[in-house]
Amino acid sequence: METIPAVTIDDLISRYDVLLLDAYGVLVNGDGALPGAAELIATLNRRDQPYFLVSNTAAHLPANASVRYRQFGLDLPAERILTAGSLIKPYFEAQGYRGLRCAVLGPEDSFRYVEEAGALAVSPFEDFDLILIGDQVGFPFLEGVDTVLSRLIDKFDGGASVPLILPNPDLIFPKRSGYGITSGMVAAIIELALRQRYPERIDVAFAQLGKPQPGLFEEALKRAGTRNAIMIGDQLETDIRGAVGMGLDSALVAGGVAGKQLVGGVRPTYRLDSLMPARAG
Ligand SMILES: [Mg+2]
Repeated sequence: METIPAVTIDDLISRYDVLLLDAYGVLVNGDGALPGAAELIATLNRRDQPYFLVSNTAAHLPANASVRYRQFGLDLPAERILTAGSLIKPYFEAQGYRGLRCAVLGPEDSFRYVEEAGALAVSPFEDFDLILIGDQVGFPFLEGVDTVLSRLIDKFDGGASVPLILPNPDLIFPKRSGYGITSGMVAAIIELALRQRYPERIDVAFAQLGKPQPGLFEEALKRAGTRNAIMIGDQLETDIRGAVGMGLDSALVAGGVAGKQLVGGVRPTYRLDSLMPARAG
């Protein structure tokens, strides 16, 4: 990572009109706020500097995420939180999924996102027209995956096509100690099994809504009213690849999910070693 120029958070605040911040691995982990996150958000709020949290979650509605972040000491208003879950509604409208039965693997808020999108959210144990992986928790994991996979094989064997939707393509996320798998990994399990059985079918692929797809970035830039934005993230495959695809600058934080190696030609503009502003508060 030595060849990526280092930058400070104060440089980023002064150079860019809007900061786009990833959540897990940048501001928080599964247990609380990361060092400097509370000071950064307090500074941005005090200076009235535009920023948006661009999160791949489809497991928390923005209002509930805001409550959770406040418990972590981050004063993040719901209107500054953009989630991949919020992309479900426009996607379902564009695809004509209104009124269809959508099996949801995820917690309560994943069901709410799907219901707000006009589909009938059902459990993985009921019959469905399409499936959406909202999270890795909120359902009996092995029974849920096995049941959905079995029903998908039935349907595919019968020649039907079933839309597969994945708002959050992240594979892993940082915990206080170590890492956990997330919804992208659940989708990968199902997709791998289906691909082995149906190597010729092109519809065996989850439609991804969140980063690195452009939807969240486009919404953030639209709300910000500027393209002079910097994406601050910890994952090369989602945060940085997505920013590169949008033609935006990006900063990779230290200590996140990205390893020491830059892979796949995805290269951040900067390396950011600390979120702590020089004059916090
Ligand atoms: Mg992250």
